[in-house]
Amino acid sequence: MAAEITLSHVETTLTDGETLRTPWWEIDSGADGPVLLAIAAQHGNEVHGIEVLRRFAPICAEGIVSGTALLVPFGNLLAIRHRRNSSMIGPEEKQTELHKRFNMNGLWPGDAQGNDIERLVASLDEALAQRATHVVDLHSWNGFWAASTLRWEGADSAKMADVAGTRFTWWHQVHSTPASHTQIRNTVVGRGGSAVCIEFAGQNCVYEREVQVGVRAMCNIAKVLGMMEGEPEIPPDCGLRITDENTTVVRAPCSGLFVEQPGLALEDRVEAGQRLGHIIRDDDLSVVEIAAPVGGWLWRFGSHRPNPDVSLADQHPYSDPGDPLASVVSNRAY
Ligand SMILES: [Zn+2]
Repeated sequence: MAAEITLSHVETTLTDGETLRTPWWEIDSGADGPVLLAIAAQHGNEVHGIEVLRRFAPICAEGIVSGTALLVPFGNLLAIRHRRNSSMIGPEEKQTELHKRFNMNGLWPGDAQGNDIERLVASLDEALAQRATHVVDLHSWNGFWAASTLRWEGADSAKMADVAGTRFTWWHQVHSTPASHTQIRNTVVGRGGSAVCIEFAGQNCVYEREVQVGVRAMCNIAKVLGMMEGEPEIPPDCGLRITDENTTVVRAPCSGLFVEQPGLALEDRVEAGQRLGHIIRDDDLSVVEIAAPVGGWLWRFGSHRPNPDVSLADQHPYSDPGDPLASVVSNRAY
């Protein structure tokens, strides 16, 4: 018999005295086991995880055999309603002092007397994160980078990452855990728990492929933790580890407009010499073909500059010499 999906709200008293009500679902198997917290959209423009959790909830309720799932689709309602990465910031702002103060991703475990986001984090931490033995933190980075799992060692963290089933995995070193102003994963790992982060491709949008990757990842993680029965479903050529050694960056050889090869997309397999697109030069209007220098998988694709997640100019396909056009991950490194 399926477990119930129970709706609750975490209430946060904001600095103006208003109450913010963050809805979340609890799915309790009735049997001992992990307490798996999944939180999406801590950044308000990173919305794939909201739909991922909506689809995962009934699957989890149907299949859960041990432990409890705590699902928070709208992690940061203030930023989501603001329709930007973080609340309080304006267009194209990032890495500013204001962003730092209101970037939910760096404010765990929060402060009940702090600013609105610190208060939100403190209430979510008290109600949910302190209960959690395992955390899945769902983000979306810019649309020029393929979906990837961020992997850590320690407790069950690597185990969760290794079954996530994204094409790419980014391994991170374990750092000493700061006590405050950190990411939820550090807070939970610092308490002896486990965490993994998944970054989907594209912001301000919900792409079906990314959602399917996310639902599969959630199911695989629940299975590897013993919360659901069955073996994780991991497609071939997934978990490719991104390293400097196995990643070849293709850069613009000249200035002009980069036009991607039709039909080619992030995560695709490309062979050495395969056409990736062309640049229309802005000096003599000639066309310069761009080809993959090595075989591998497209980890990044499209002309972009350092902050394409917030800057429209950094998403523009006009390229200066040296701008990245693609990155190809060439082989398994483990
Ligand atoms: Zn994010």
